[in-house]
Amino acid sequence: MNNKKLYITTTLPYVNAEPHIGHALEFVQADAISRYFKSKLGKENVFFNVGTDEHGQKMFKKAQEEGLEIQEFVNKYAQRFKDFCKLFFVDYDFFYRTSDENHHKAAQEFWKRCKEKGDIYKKRYSGKYCVGCERYITEKELVDGKCPDHGTEPEEKDEENYFFKLTNYKDHLLKWLDSNPEVLKPKQKREELKRIIEEIEDISISRLRENLPWGIEVPDDPEQVFYVWFDALTNYVNVIGFGTDEEKLNEWWPGIQLFGPDNLRFQGVIWQGMLASVGLDHSQKLLEHGMVLGPDGTKMAKTKGNVISPFDQEEKFGAEIVRFYLLVGIPTFSDSAYKEDDLINMYNSRLANNFGNLLNRVIHLAQSKGVEINKEELVEQDFKRKVDSMREEIESYYNDYEIALAAGKIDELADWGNKYITEKEPWSKELDFDTCQNILNNLGYLLKTVIELYSPIVPESCSKAKIALERNEKIILFNKI
Ligand SMILES: [Zn+2]
Repeated sequence: MNNKKLYITTTLPYVNAEPHIGHALEFVQADAISRYFKSKLGKENVFFNVGTDEHGQKMFKKAQEEGLEIQEFVNKYAQRFKDFCKLFFVDYDFFYRTSDENHHKAAQEFWKRCKEKGDIYKKRYSGKYCVGCERYITEKELVDGKCPDHGTEPEEKDEENYFFKLTNYKDHLLKWLDSNPEVLKPKQKREELKRIIEEIEDISISRLRENLPWGIEVPDDPEQVFYVWFDALTNYVNVIGFGTDEEKLNEWWPGIQLFGPDNLRFQGVIWQGMLASVGLDHSQKLLEHGMVLGPDGTKMAKTKGNVISPFDQEEKFGAEIVRFYLLVGIPTFSDSAYKEDDLINMYNSRLANNFGNLLNRVIHLAQSKGVEINKEELVEQDFKRKVDSMREEIESYYNDYEIALAAGKIDELADWGNKYITEKEPWSKELDFDTCQNILNNLGYLLKTVIELYSPIVPESCSKAKIALERNEKIILFNKI
C-alpha cells in the first residue's frame, strides 16, 4: 500500500439477536485502531465502517416469531447496534445496512462481474441445510445427526442453485498467502488458513426465492435470491465505491478487516476468492481477534449460564471501563476469559492508582507551587528523550494493531512518572522554584504523552484529562471500585 489512506472495517453482525460481548470486543478493537490512525494520519485519511447483515432465513423466522414485518424487525435491531456503538464510544464513519437499496445494486453488480468472469454457474444440489449456519453442511460435520454449532437437525433440501467457482482460485490463493506471510494476524492461524484453502470447494451462492423471500434478487433470474453471505461480504468494497465510484474505491481499497475466530473461512478464503474474481486486490490485513470466554474459561453458552452481557456490564461498571477491560484485559489476538475481578484489579491498578493518581499529583503540586506545567521549553532533554523513546515503542505496537501490548507500555510510562515524582519530591520546601518547575514540566510532558496514547482506548476520560492538564484544574477521573 503506498497511499496514506487507511480503511478499516468490522464484520457485519446478524441482526437476529441483541449485541453480545463478542460484538463489543470487535467493535471497540476496530474503533481503537481507527482512533489511533486518525490521530496519526488525520481524520480525513481514515475510514471506519461497521454495520449489520440483515438478510437470510434466520432473520425471516425471527421476525415472524416476534410478529413484526421483516423490514420493521431489521430496523429495530439495526438501531440496537447503533445504540450499542454509541454506548461504547464506537465512533464509526459509516454504518452499513445490507437491506439498504444501494447495497442491493452494488451486490448485484458484484455478481454480474463474477458471472462475466465465468465464475458463476447453476447446478442441482441436494443436501442437509442448517438454518443457523445459513449453509449446507456435510455428513462429516454432523454430530449425532445435528449441527455441532447449533445442536439442531439440518433440513433436507433439494434445489437448483447458483455456485461460485471458488476452486478456480485455489492456486492463486495459496500463492497469495505464501507471498504475503504477514497478511493474517495472529501468525499462528496461517496454517489453518492454508488448510482451508487447500480444501476449497465451489460454493452455493443462491436460494430459491420461494424458500427465502427475504434476500437480494439474482440478476436476470427473479426466481433466485442471493445466499446471505455472498451479498453481505460485498459490503466491504461497496461502502467505498464499488460499482459506483472507481476512483474512491482505488483510494481506499485494500483495507484492514477485523473478524472473529469463526470467520476465517469467510474472510480469509471465500471473500478473497470473490475479490480475485472481480479483479480487486486482496485485503491489506486480516485481523482475527480472540474469543471472549465465560468467567470459567469456556465458550459462553446460555445452557452453561456463563454468558456475560455487555449491557449488564455497562450498568455495573460504566461503558468506558468495560471498553478498557475488553481492549486491555483481553489479549488482542487470543481467546481469554472475562473475569470481573480482573476488570476491577486492572482498572484500579492501571487507571485509578497509576494514570489518574499521577494526573492528580501533578496538578495538585502545580497549583500549590504556582507552576505552569505546559511549557515544553522547560522539559529537560534527557527526560524528553526517554518519554519519546517509550512513545515510539508504544506506537510500534499500535502500528502492528497490538492494542493490549500498547496499553501495557503506556502503563509502564505512567508508572515511571509516579516513581519519578516520588524520587524527586517536588513538594519539598528545600527545592528552588526553577528546579520544581522543571520537574513538573517534565511530568506535564509525560502526562500529555500518556493521555494522547491512551485516547484510542479510553477516549472520554482522556479528553477530560487533556482539558484538566491544559487548564491546570483538578479532576477525579477514575474513582476506585
Ligand atoms: Zn449450524
